[in-house]
Amino acid sequence: MGDEHIKKAALVSIGNELLNGKTVDTNAAYIAGRLRTISLPVVSVHTAPDEQPAIERTLALAAREADIVVATGGLGPTDDDVTRQAFAGFLGVELVLRPELLEKLKEFFDRRGIEMPARNSIQACVPQGASAIENNMGTAPGIWAWKDGKRLFALPGVPAEMRHMFDTQVLPELRPLVGGQAIAVRRLKCFGAGESKVAERIGDAMERGRNPLVNCTVHAGIISLEVVASAADRPEAEKMAEREECSLRTALGQLVYGTNDQTLAEVVGEALVRTGQTLAVAESCTGGLLAELITDIPGSSRYFTYGWVTYSNEAKCTELEVPREMIDMHGAVSEQVARAMAQGARRKAGTDYAVAITGIAGPGGGSEQKPVGLVYIAVDNRDGTDTSRYIFSFDRSSVRLRAAQTALNTLRLKLNLTGPVPI
Ligand code: ATP
Repeated sequence: MGDEHIKKAALVSIGNELLNGKTVDTNAAYIAGRLRTISLPVVSVHTAPDEQPAIERTLALAAREADIVVATGGLGPTDDDVTRQAFAGFLGVELVLRPELLEKLKEFFDRRGIEMPARNSIQACVPQGASAIENNMGTAPGIWAWKDGKRLFALPGVPAEMRHMFDTQVLPELRPLVGGQAIAVRRLKCFGAGESKVAERIGDAMERGRNPLVNCTVHAGIISLEVVASAADRPEAEKMAEREECSLRTALGQLVYGTNDQTLAEVVGEALVRTGQTLAVAESCTGGLLAELITDIPGSSRYFTYGWVTYSNEAKCTELEVPREMIDMHGAVSEQVARAMAQGARRKAGTDYAVAITGIAGPGGGSEQKPVGLVYIAVDNRDGTDTSRYIFSFDRSSVRLRAAQTALNTLRLKLNLTGPVPI
């Protein structure tokens, strides 16, 4: 099903500071997030310099793509602020001075005991036939206008002013325009395969122009799939999103570890609490990162009991009872040592599970047989020890984070497989 009947918005962020890398466009991010709350999807975000012809061209482009255009920036009193003039140009009308706005501006300066600078009077001008949007925090009123059935808004660039005006005056105006249309969103978090593998498993689900649309982002090995279903009403949108989520889950199986903002550590923690089991960790190259991720979760004391950072060979032997000959024979970064670390940690801590990590985080210390990024992860429980070998890429911190996340994921899979302990 297409989404031709769904109303859409386009955003225009105006200002040279946005183009020269000095200012990050947080306004567009804010507005897009707020529009999502009223089920108005943003189809494009444009950035234009403080130049009238460029702004007019950008407004025209935005209005072609969307039913609602929200522009921010360039409403100040100085010569480099030309959004007001560009709006008038785009609408094909003159700017007119509005006495009541001029009065408000004068009052604004009076309250501060300053005489209004003459150049501020431009801020009392709005395009003929357009309306002003009140600004109680600054001097620049906004503008709203209609053109060829499209709704256009201009707001000041100052984030605090823009946000307040948007929330109190623009959003309430847009709500009825949007009608009952609804966007239903589902987020699935995946771990354990690359983007291409995920794409392969879900077939054409990520094709553009689909409704529901499936968007994919990756961060630190975690693949987030966002399902966005747009429909004329809420029940239909929810039904579409639900159906899509089900088919993604079927295609991805165990790769899906959670939803929304869930972390691997949270999911593992929930499983341990649910099954009344405990956990200890023994780390080498991650230097405590795994324990940190686990204890970032409030309530982790219910299942996490011990963590060792055994960075030296000596520490592995004395703290975890890893046989010295084993390290001599196989090296500290080896399957055997990972296994012995996990077993030693579980034995000493008396927990149901123990996870161990040993590897080469780099940038130095690698060899042909044992390159930088080589990591062994072992998970031990009453049924035995699973050990896996990975080669992670990129820099030291990426290797360490991927190792810790992969350890959590290995534990998650083992917990799922093993299920609850028999009572
Ligand atoms: P003013 O009356 O303050 O001149 P204005 O509408 O002309 O308002 P700008 O001069 O364009 O606004 O920007 C004012 C401040 O807001 C600047 O510090 C600018 O960096 C910041 N700003 C402008 N646009 C954005 C944006 N899209 N995202 C984040 N900050 C922005």
